[in-house]
Amino acid sequence: MSGQPTPMMQQYLALKREAGDALLFYRMGDFFELFFEDAKVAAGILDIALTSRGEHGGEPVPMCGVPVHSAEGYLARLIKGGCRVAIAEQTETPDEAKARAKRDGTPTSKALVARDIVRFVTAGTLTEEALLEPRRANLLVAVAPVRDGVGLASCDISTGRMELEECEASALDAALARLGASEVVAPEDWEDGTEDVIARPRADFRSEDGEARLKSIHGVATLDGLGDFTRPMLAAAAGLIAYLDHAGRGELPFLLPPVARGSGAHLAMDAATRASLEILEAQGGGRAGSLVSCIDRCVTGAGARQLAEDLAAPLADRGQIEARHAAIHHFHIDPLLRADLRALLRQAPDIGRALGRLVAGRGSPRDLGQIRDGLSEARRVRGVLEASADLPALLRDALTALGGHSALIDHLDRALVPSPPTERQQGGYIASGYDHALDALRETSGNARKAIAALEARYREETDTASLKIKHNKVLGYFIEVPAKHGDKLMAADSGFTHRQTMAGAVRFNSIGLHEEATRIAEAGAHALAAEEAHFEELVGEVVTARQAIAATAAALARIDVAAGLAERAVEGDWARPEMLDAPCLEVVGGRHPVVEQALAKSGERFVANDCSLGEDDRLWLIGGPNMGGKSTFLRQNALILLLAQAGSYVPASSARIGLADRLFSRVGASDNLARGRSTFMVEMVETAAILSQATERSFVILDEVGRGTSTYDGMALAWAVVEAVHEQLRCRCLFATHYHELSRLADTCDALSLHHVRAREWKGDLVLLHELTGGAADRSYGLDVARLAGVPQPVLKRAKAVLAKLEKGRAETGGLAAGLGELPLFAASLQAENEPDDALRDALEVLDIDTLSPREALDKLYELKALG
Ligand code: ADP
Repeated sequence: MSGQPTPMMQQYLALKREAGDALLFYRMGDFFELFFEDAKVAAGILDIALTSRGEHGGEPVPMCGVPVHSAEGYLARLIKGGCRVAIAEQTETPDEAKARAKRDGTPTSKALVARDIVRFVTAGTLTEEALLEPRRANLLVAVAPVRDGVGLASCDISTGRMELEECEASALDAALARLGASEVVAPEDWEDGTEDVIARPRADFRSEDGEARLKSIHGVATLDGLGDFTRPMLAAAAGLIAYLDHAGRGELPFLLPPVARGSGAHLAMDAATRASLEILEAQGGGRAGSLVSCIDRCVTGAGARQLAEDLAAPLADRGQIEARHAAIHHFHIDPLLRADLRALLRQAPDIGRALGRLVAGRGSPRDLGQIRDGLSEARRVRGVLEASADLPALLRDALTALGGHSALIDHLDRALVPSPPTERQQGGYIASGYDHALDALRETSGNARKAIAALEARYREETDTASLKIKHNKVLGYFIEVPAKHGDKLMAADSGFTHRQTMAGAVRFNSIGLHEEATRIAEAGAHALAAEEAHFEELVGEVVTARQAIAATAAALARIDVAAGLAERAVEGDWARPEMLDAPCLEVVGGRHPVVEQALAKSGERFVANDCSLGEDDRLWLIGGPNMGGKSTFLRQNALILLLAQAGSYVPASSARIGLADRLFSRVGASDNLARGRSTFMVEMVETAAILSQATERSFVILDEVGRGTSTYDGMALAWAVVEAVHEQLRCRCLFATHYHELSRLADTCDALSLHHVRAREWKGDLVLLHELTGGAADRSYGLDVARLAGVPQPVLKRAKAVLAKLEKGRAETGGLAAGLGELPLFAASLQAENEPDDALRDALEVLDIDTLSPREALDKLYELKALG
C-alpha cells in the first residue's frame, strides 16, 4: 500500500531529519531499530541480518535491530566503524500514549508513543567504560579559523580536561596530528578541511559566546584567573561547547577549567614526522611496535594516557623537562619506594573517568565505589610518598593534590557496599547500617519472604499436597502452584484459595495471606529502592561538588605512575638521565633505538650502540654505507632520544647531553602515501619542502635517502642541494643518510659537515653488516653484496657485476656521475648568480614605455627580452 506514510513512519522521518547524518536508533520496546540506508550501513558494519518491514513509497523498508540490553557493544562497533548514532527513546509509556490519545479524541488503537532523540553517541563524546580504551585519551577537537589565526579547543570528556590553543593556519595540520582527536568539528564554511571533520553552523563559533559559556560553566565573572585566552581560542571553545550541547541534547558533560596552551611550549612535530617516528602508532597502524608501547610501564590506564600525551607533545621548557627527570630520578634510585607505589597504583581504579561519568549524569553505583577506592588508594600513595625524604618539586606538588578527601572517603565508605553494581534498578548498593529506615524496609521484606516460606509449609500440610509450591514470576507476582492432578482440592469453594491460571500440567492460585505478604514485599521494596535512589543522588552531588579536587588527585596519580613507570623502564633498559642544555648540541654516547633493540632481543640478537656528537662546529653528519647497514635506525634513534628527553624521560644511551630543540623533523623512508594519490617521490618532496621552509637553527632534522624516488641524476642533484641548504641556510642539527657517494665532496666546501658511514666487512666472500658507525666516507656501495644476502640468484648477480664493471670504467674515463661538480659555486653564491638574469630582465622591462612603441618595434623588443631571459 502506498500513499500517506503511517503515523509511525512520519514520526520516524521527522526524527531522522533531526539526526542528520547520524544513524538513528529508534526505540521499539526492547529493541533499537534502524531503517532505510541506516539499516544497510549498520547491518554491514555489525554483520547482522538485514530484513524489511512494511512499505514506504511502494518499496519495502530495509530494517535491522539490536536488543537494548546489549546495545553498548553494537554502539562501540558502529563508532569504531566511523559512524555517529542518535538515540531516540520512548518518552512516554504506551498507557500514557493511550491516555493522551483519549484526551485528543483520536482512536486509542492508533495511539503512538512519543519519542525523542535523547543523545548523540559520537567518537569524541563517549563516557561509557565499555566504549573507551583504558590506555588512550579520547579527544574531541573544535577548530575555529578566524581572520588572523586558528583557534583549537580540545577536551577529553571522559575526564573533563580541556585545552585551548591558537596556531597559524600553516601549523594546523601539525597541531591536529599532535592531538590525534577521535572527532573534529569545524564551521561548515571552512574550506581547507582535509581532516574528516563534522561541519557545524558558523554561528556556533563566536568568541563572545565561548567566553560567556566558560564563565557560566565555571561560575566566574572573568576568565583572567584561568589563563590568557585569545579570541580564536574562545571561538573554538564556543564551537566545542555548542557541539557538546548538541550531542548531549542540552546536558553538558564534565568540563574542567580550560588550560591555555602557549604556542612555543612544545617541541613542534608535523604529521609526517610523527608517523615516521612511530610515536603512538606503528606505520602499519596500531600500538604494537610503536615507541609508546615499547616504553609504557604504567600500571594504570590514566598513567598510560598521560604518557601518550607527554610523548605526543614533548616540552620545550628546560625547567619543566628537568622537573620530570628529577621525579624519575627519585624513583630510579629507590627501587623499594618504586615497587611500593606501583603496587598501590595498580589497585587504583580509573577515578578520572568514573568522575566524568558521574558529572555527566551517566554514573552508576560502581562509579561511586571507584571514586571511594581510588581516593583511598591516593591517600595510601600519599602516605608512602610523604615518608620519602628529599622529594623533588613535581612529586611535592602531586603530594598536595593527593590529600584532602577524608570526609568524602569516609562518607562513601559508610554508605556503599564493598562492590556496588553498575545497575541501579535492583538497588542493594547502599550498605546496611547506613540508613535505619532503609534497614527497616529491608527487614520488612526479609520477614515477608520468611512469612511466605512459612505459608508454603502450612499450605502443604493443610492441603496434604507435598508438591505445592509458592513461586514468583514477573507477570503474576507471587502465586501458589500445584500439579494439575491436585488442582481440584484447592478449587473447592471453601478452600481459601482463588484460582488464577490453569496450565498444561499445573494449576495456579492465590490466597489472602499470600497476597498480604506479597504486598508487604512490593511496598517495602519500592520504598527501599526510592531510599537508595535518594542516597545515590546525594552521594553523586557530593562527588560533583568536589570534582575539581578529585580531578587533581586523578592527575597527580597519573603523573606519579608515569614517573615511576619511566624509572622502571630506565632500570630495565639501562637508560641514562639526559643533561639538558641551551646550546644546539646532541651528544649521545652508546645510543640505542629502543624499539629495534627490543625486537632484536626477542630473537636473541644484540643491538650495537652508537655515538652521535653534533655541535655548533659539526652540525651536519652525512652518513653513508651499505643498505641494511643501520643508517635509518641510527637517524631515528637520535630523533627518539631527543624526543624522549624533551618529553621528560630518561633515554636509551649510556649518557646524553641534549640542546633543547624547537622543532623536530623526520623524513625517513618513503612513507607509502600512494593511497592518497601522490607518488612516493612527490610525498618525499612535499615533506622535504616542509622541512626547508620551517626548520630553524634550533631544530633537529633527520633526512634519509632524499632523492631516492627519482632518477639518479635528479636524485643526486636534489640531495646535494638539500644538504647545502640545510648547512648554509637552516644551520640546524641534521643527520643525513645517503647512498650517493658523490655527496662526500660536500665536505670540502661545508665546514660544519662531517662524513660518517656504517661499517661492513667482507668475510670469506660474504658481506658482514656490523651496524657500527664510524668516521669518514664509505669506501664503496656494497649494493651487489646486499643483493646476494637477500638471495638474488647467482646468474643475475654475475650479469650485474659485468654491467657494473662497464659503468665504473666509463665513470673513470669521464670523471663520473659527479664530474664537473668540483667547479660548482657555493650554495649562497649560486643563489645570487641565479637571480641575476632575472633582474636584468626586470630592469629592461621597467624602462620600457609600451605606449610609444610601434608594433614592429614591440616585436623587436620582445626578441631582445627573450635573449635576456
Ligand atoms: P639502512 O637504513 O642502512 O638500510 P636500517 O637502519 O634499516 O638500514 O637497518 C636494517 C636492519 O639492521 C634493521 O632492521 C635492524 O634489524 C638491523 N640494525 C640496524 N641498526 C642496528 C644496530 N645498531 N645493531 C643491530 N642491528 C641493527
